[in-house]
Amino acid sequence: MRQWDCQVWDSYNATEAMPLTIPCVLGRFHVNADWMILEPVDADRRPVPAGTPSATTLITNLANHVQPIIRYELGDSVTFSADRCRCGSPLPVVTVVGRSNDLLRFTRPEGAPVAIPPLALGSVMEETVGVRRYQAIQTGPASLTVRLETESGSDPDRVWVDLTRRLRDFLTRQGLGNVDLSRDRSGPQPEPHSGKLRQVICAFDG
Ligand SMILES: [Zn+2]
Repeated sequence: MRQWDCQVWDSYNATEAMPLTIPCVLGRFHVNADWMILEPVDADRRPVPAGTPSATTLITNLANHVQPIIRYELGDSVTFSADRCRCGSPLPVVTVVGRSNDLLRFTRPEGAPVAIPPLALGSVMEETVGVRRYQAIQTGPASLTVRLETESGSDPDRVWVDLTRRLRDFLTRQGLGNVDLSRDRSGPQPEPHSGKLRQVICAFDG
């Protein structure tokens, strides 16, 4: 804050629902409940009470009439507060526990862990010419599998070569030149429950 000489606010948002929350003067996240219904649910999509962290959340956007988003699963674990915020806002307060499988944690050759945010990996994928959709799956401490859907008219093998070169450059800059890249030709697979395509997945407990 001193660097920028201004107040810096943290925020909890989702591209499906903007703005999902608005921070108050006390720094707490108030759900923009006039426009959005944010439902904290357990793994079986049953509501969880205030004070209990949810397994995931469902979002309904009441403001977007062009692309209806109704009980869309965000995959975030949140806890609703049972109390009204002291700032005076009547809007419900939510605390973000975490986003499921948010970070990929790889291991460098000498054993040091490196966390890779999905957005960073996603940028490399999305900026590769010919990539239409993708799914990157971490399958081990130093292994990444990619499911690729390419633009029509592009050569999938050529896109794969370009993508692996770019991924290799990116990973090497993180000290992760040891990460093994492999291709799963089955293509990106949406979640069976929600139909959501998770672009970056950690399928590895490490
Ligand atoms: Zn408040």
